[in-house]
Amino acid sequence: MYDVVVAGGSIAGLLCAREIAEKNNTVLVIEEDYEIGTPEHCGGLVSTKGLEKLGVIPFSKTFDHLIEFATINAPNGSSFSINSKKQKVAEISRRELDKQIAHQAQKNGAVIKVRTSFQELTKDGVRTNEGEIKCKIFVDARGVSALVQKDREGILSSAQYEIYADWIKKGRVEVFFDQEKYPGFFAWIIPSGEGKGKVGVAGKGIKVSEVLEEFLEKKGKYSTIRKIFAPIWIKGPIKKFVEGKTVIVGDAAGQAKPTTSGGIYTSGMGGVLAGRAISKFLKSNNESDLEEYQKQWKKMFGEEFEKQIMARKVLERIDNNTINKLFDSITPEITKEISEKEDFDFHTGSIIKLLGLKGSVKTAQIILGGELKKLLK
Ligand SMILES: Cc1cc2nc3c(=O)[nH]c(=O)nc-3n(C[C@H](O)[C@H](O)[C@H](O)COP(=O)(O)OP(=O)(O)OC[C@H]3O[C@@H](n4cnc5c(N)ncnc54)[C@H](O)[C@@H]3O)c2cc1C
Repeated sequence: MYDVVVAGGSIAGLLCAREIAEKNNTVLVIEEDYEIGTPEHCGGLVSTKGLEKLGVIPFSKTFDHLIEFATINAPNGSSFSINSKKQKVAEISRRELDKQIAHQAQKNGAVIKVRTSFQELTKDGVRTNEGEIKCKIFVDARGVSALVQKDREGILSSAQYEIYADWIKKGRVEVFFDQEKYPGFFAWIIPSGEGKGKVGVAGKGIKVSEVLEEFLEKKGKYSTIRKIFAPIWIKGPIKKFVEGKTVIVGDAAGQAKPTTSGGIYTSGMGGVLAGRAISKFLKSNNESDLEEYQKQWKKMFGEEFEKQIMARKVLERIDNNTINKLFDSITPEITKEISEKEDFDFHTGSIIKLLGLKGSVKTAQIILGGELKKLLK
């Protein structure tokens, strides 16, 4: 018998367990894989501010380096770069980060079991492959896999390879837009040091491995040391984070950013806020304390996520020609302004600046009409 059972021993589930255990409640985390942090399905980009808010100061093993530049490429090969030093975005190892948080949770009193999978809810708790476990609250932190049955529409396939290649430059992230190759998404290069990094693609209805290999062949010589294929969720938060005594956190609740599908901070924060709300509920037995979790998360991210959903709709509807035109009208003043002011976690301000330009925006406005206006509000 535990106060809480958490299914999913990744960032959201572990942070949730850490918060619950901190208030002396009993909590068990079950993780179906054989190791916390593995298989890593993440680019590892996160703002240091975000990590701080999650209550994590990365160990040297976890932290690799800060990103200095982001280069954004148009389908026709033109590009612009943003100096991202001020945004303090780190490249971290998710294998190590998740283990670090697992240790924080364990030190607070949480119990973690790997190779144990959640199967179904029962009257008094949950059924796992190791039998039934009783609990008062169940936390679903199973990531995008929990959403597969609910809504396939919001899911894109992605492939990400870890590679060694001379053309990967430490400190420089690259993003490549091409609506024919990666419809509704993009390709990316995230360095994990000089000459090594993670290169990935996602998009609607594409064969991600073929598309990624074509991308890599064009870039030049490389050696692959790891391949992962994982679904990403781009539709924003689900309607209800709390259903009876089930609390849904992280990617399972759609808390990854609709623009980039980045979720270390936003999904992690879901875990933290849920954990605090559950602790309150366990003391008060007042269901409004559980409901507080969704309110708090929405207060932090609701408005930004709505804008990101609008930005996504814009991206889904513009063609390569429009993207090329938008790139043509981006001036050094605009990239400078974004470099100096913008925030990695709340980045629709940058997108609006990039879309709200003279000339090409007229094309975008005609195509997008009301939607663009909503985004600019
Ligand atoms: C290719 C790719 C690149 C990404 N890059 C970035 C990035 O650079 N920056 C960023 O911020 N985000 C990135 N993300 C997103 C980020 O990885 C997720 O938002 C984050 O991991 C979500 O954490 P989570 O704890 O909610 O779910 P997950 O990390 O998905 O964890 C869910 C856990 O639940 C376990 N599980 C599933 N089913 C069961 C079950 N039945 N029983 C028990 N356990 C179960 C899984 O094994 C897994 O450990 C990326 C995602 C992908 C796919």
